[in-house]
Amino acid sequence: MDNAFKDIVDKLKDSQSISKEDFAYLLERGDKDDIEYLFAAARDVAEKYFLKEVYLRGLIEFSNYCKNDCYYCGIRCSNRNAERYRLSEEEILSCCDIGAKIGFKTFVLQSGEDPYYTDDRICSIVRKIKIAHPDCAVTLSIGEKSKESYQEFFDYGADRYLLRHETADEEHYSMLHPASMSGARRKQCLFDLKEIGFQVGCGIMVGTPHQTVDHIYEDILFMQELQPHMIGIGPFIPHKDTPFKDEPEGSVDRTLRLLAILRLLFPKVLLPATTALGTADALGREKGILAGANVMMPNLSPSNVREKYLLYDGKICTGEEAAECNACLRARVSRIGYHVADSRGDHPDFV
Ligand code: SAH
Repeated sequence: MDNAFKDIVDKLKDSQSISKEDFAYLLERGDKDDIEYLFAAARDVAEKYFLKEVYLRGLIEFSNYCKNDCYYCGIRCSNRNAERYRLSEEEILSCCDIGAKIGFKTFVLQSGEDPYYTDDRICSIVRKIKIAHPDCAVTLSIGEKSKESYQEFFDYGADRYLLRHETADEEHYSMLHPASMSGARRKQCLFDLKEIGFQVGCGIMVGTPHQTVDHIYEDILFMQELQPHMIGIGPFIPHKDTPFKDEPEGSVDRTLRLLAILRLLFPKVLLPATTALGTADALGREKGILAGANVMMPNLSPSNVREKYLLYDGKICTGEEAAECNACLRARVSRIGYHVADSRGDHPDFV
């Protein structure tokens, strides 16, 4: 039992802020009881705003073509072993129809940065989804675009946008990406998205090569500036065909602590228990909810393409159908005493 640890948790919960020293303490110190105290505080705050509800987002991975070459990612353009695929507009719409039938109110369209999907094509897809499912939210996760493009997506009905900033530290960013990519540009995209009126999600991987506690603290400062509606974090998991193939996997324990700290810093934020967390630990997503997360993203992609959208090795649920993923996640949620929400699950301050 460590009173200093608990004092820091209490102070963080009351003030929604934390010093770098205290942050390092919560990430690196404490025994089982202390960590449980941190998680209980995070659950408490989540419950205040979200009751015991978990939001499901149907994830449609519609293309694994990518023009970028991020060192950590399995669908980077220089991975010749990746078998590339694209879904047609009809296929994407039929995924949404299936998703709507099993109760999803949000569709997340994610892909590599694939120039085949021009702004016109994306806008057409978004509009058709919104016409077919007017009660549903559409989230895009298709990378860096111009502000004009983002504005068009928004005008055609897209509601939310996920773009993890990956790391707020420019030097660390350059250790994870080729020189053609810039952390500053990625951050600018996030500010553009917010200004346009999207509900915006940023985020990082936990345990990427060269990541330090100081870096993660910088990420927190960046998030405090951006004030995102959603924060996506999951452990880094190596992929065999990338430059980081021999790097160690990110820590599940650290990911869970960070989830709890983020819940205390951003009480109303939408915080997913990610598939990467479920891959690194068979009960990772449940543990994530019990550390303050309130979103899960079941896979809605057609089963014949699932094993091709591999950002990292060992990804779970690649052999399943949408209905199976849905039933499995609902069971996992209820087993820990939570239930799946019926609503769209917008950010509480978003009207
Ligand atoms: N092309 C889109 C979608 C990226 S994939 C974009 O640029 O936003 C979604 C997220 O998966 C990435 O932002 C990254 O944080 C995460 N990811 C990629 N490779 C990973 C790996 N090896 N382990 C864990 N997460 C990974």
